[in-house]
Amino acid sequence: MSLNIHDTVQLNSGRQMPMLGFGTWKLKDGPVVRDAVAAAFAAGYRHIDTAAAYENEHGVGQAIRQSHLPRADIFLTTKVFNDDIRKGPAAVQKAFEKSLGLLGVDYIDLYLLHWPIIGKDLEAWRVLERLYHEGKVRSIGVSNYLPHHLDALIAHAEITPMVNQVEFHPYLLQPGLADACRKHGIVREAWSPLMQGKITEVPEIVEIARQHGKTPAQIVLHWDLQHRVVTIPRSSNPKRIVENAGLYDFELTPGDIAILDQLDRKQRFGPDPDNFDF
Ligand code: NDP
Repeated sequence: MSLNIHDTVQLNSGRQMPMLGFGTWKLKDGPVVRDAVAAAFAAGYRHIDTAAAYENEHGVGQAIRQSHLPRADIFLTTKVFNDDIRKGPAAVQKAFEKSLGLLGVDYIDLYLLHWPIIGKDLEAWRVLERLYHEGKVRSIGVSNYLPHHLDALIAHAEITPMVNQVEFHPYLLQPGLADACRKHGIVREAWSPLMQGKITEVPEIVEIARQHGKTPAQIVLHWDLQHRVVTIPRSSNPKRIVENAGLYDFELTPGDIAILDQLDRKQRFGPDPDNFDF
């Protein structure tokens, strides 16, 4: 399978989404996130993942402007957070406008409902559908949706979510969710793909990395791409930002992939979408 950093997947909007992106959770607004996103652009990433809840959209926007890259070359995701979803459609609309202003852009490539807020997400989704029709967001999707959340939303939605951004890594494969996404033509996107740094502690991953002369992060991120799961590693370290994009000069064997697939322990590093209280 031949991959490169410009590899994209087509969403049901017809838009192309880069398979590799750069995550920005926990990267503080101001110079920290700005420098990290600038390093990501320099390393060739063209897809940035942020969220209103990360409180760093302003710095992400500064990095975008300072890059002087054409806006069309950048794929920018942000998300509306739970408190605004709970408050209702007017708050979702306002949150969108606030994100747009902080980012300093005139459209968002992908806008997501950050978590499934049962009983409130359909009316929030209607706002995303409208923003999509208005061209203010190029694609719309959800995050942290389990199959039953997808079924409930899709039953009443005009537009099926195009992306579901979920926790995904060798300790958490969620095959049932993969099937549900496939059935609805929803692209899966992996958050915490590096198990928040813990991949370096998994002997099987370390051994496959040794055999290929690559790092554990490169092995796991390449495995994401081979599974056609969009992946958005985060780092504040410029060397690792480059390392995490060094995925295209080797191939995993079917045996490697089988070993990685068998590491699944249903282990989450983040909250369970059926049981969170924020
Ligand atoms: P990741 O799995 O990307 O791991 C990030 C951690 O791994 C950091 O501590 C980083 O440290 C370390 N790291 C980065 N590169 C390497 C490397 N090459 N070798 C070893 N360690 C490394 O965690 P995130 O939770 O940040 O997930 C990625 C992105 O997904 C987020 O940033 C965010 O954009 C998104 N996300 C979305 C969620 C949602 O609910 N939709 C929830 C959580 C995340 P260092 O900085 O020192 O390099």
